[in-house]
Amino acid sequence: MAKAVIETYGCTLNRADSDIIEGMLKSEGMEAESKKYAESDNADYVIINTCTVKRPTEQRILDRIRKVSVGNARLVVTGCMASANRDRILAVAPRASIVTTSNVHRIADAIEELGARDRVDYEGYMRNDKLEYFSPGGSVIARIPISEGCLSNCSFCETKFARGALNSYSENLILKAIEISVGKGAKEIELTSQDVGAYGLDKKTNIGELLSGIADMEGDFRIRVGMLNPEHLPKYIDTLLMGLEDKRIYRFLHLPLQSASNKVLKDMDRRYTIEQFCSHVAEIRNKIGDISIETDMIVGYPTETDGDFQESLAFIRELRPAFTNVSRFGVRPHTKASRLKQISNMRIKNRSSEMSRIARSIQKEDLSRLVGKTESILITEQNDRSIIGRDDCYRIVALNREICNARLGERLNARIIGNTSVCLLGTAL
Ligand code: SF4
Repeated sequence: MAKAVIETYGCTLNRADSDIIEGMLKSEGMEAESKKYAESDNADYVIINTCTVKRPTEQRILDRIRKVSVGNARLVVTGCMASANRDRILAVAPRASIVTTSNVHRIADAIEELGARDRVDYEGYMRNDKLEYFSPGGSVIARIPISEGCLSNCSFCETKFARGALNSYSENLILKAIEISVGKGAKEIELTSQDVGAYGLDKKTNIGELLSGIADMEGDFRIRVGMLNPEHLPKYIDTLLMGLEDKRIYRFLHLPLQSASNKVLKDMDRRYTIEQFCSHVAEIRNKIGDISIETDMIVGYPTETDGDFQESLAFIRELRPAFTNVSRFGVRPHTKASRLKQISNMRIKNRSSEMSRIARSIQKEDLSRLVGKTESILITEQNDRSIIGRDDCYRIVALNREICNARLGERLNARIIGNTSVCLLGTAL
């Protein structure tokens, strides 16, 4: 039996694509598994699912592609770099086969064709519903892609070139994928896409409607709603807030702001203002109460002045996001921002350190308010030292593995005994 190993980089949607690839290959009778690093020597095929969001990650992936390409296994490259930057791949691995993101459901055909050919190219953009090829992996967390692409044109983003225009998958297939995943033991469902916030806007529906469809389902599971570009919130915030009333949906929203300067937001082609963002967050907090708002901030965008940066710092201090992902601006090929005069790396580095320091201190302070409290948590991960659970606001609660033997998928109450800037420390009751 031929063996394939899948090595995945990037976001939850990429990991969901790898789950689909693994399911497709297994359904074709192949041995297939996902691994952090694929050893080329004990596999017949190595599939590298690439990401192209940040240059350092891209360079690391190209080094892997170069290394794997000189091994025995046949190399197939998919993911955003395969769709947006295939030349870079073929420059380091001329015999690599390319399968673009909207062709991952044809991965088995590509491998079959490699039986007779040196390399294959499954290019172009296909508008299909990937959930037709969905098969649950059986783990406690199921990643369910609900759409691909988006409706925006952010000036710094290369993913747009890889994933294209918005293509929302059918609600029936999403509900079916949730049902069969829960049937196979999933306890946490991650709804994922480039922009979950744009879901359904190409089909006269939206994420709020989808959540109310999920609310009608039976079953003991939690739902994590993926990243929402704040641009679309006005279109469905009421139905979204109603959807969040279902106790199975984590009280957690990931709303990437990127900058708190309206001038920089305009330059980034982000179609909302800081005032709109803050009023949405206030409305959400008023309606839901205790909810985790995570955000993303880019520092060092070419047109960001010291004053703009100070506005972003003031925003973090005032809004106190539960978690802030701070990214240093990096030039991405083909993007509008790549044609602008760039800020020095040193200045970007300094801004990134300052914002990260402030964000971490706020996170630590706010998490410390839960020390002494009891949280109901779902166990979803484990590592050498800890059993990891998520509370109702999707906050991480780490339990010491030496004294806790809770199983994946188990629900339990934990007393919070401490915290760091990124998680709570607990003991099972
Ligand atoms: S919403 Fe913007 S950042 Fe996100 S994938 Fe679309 S263009 Fe890129």
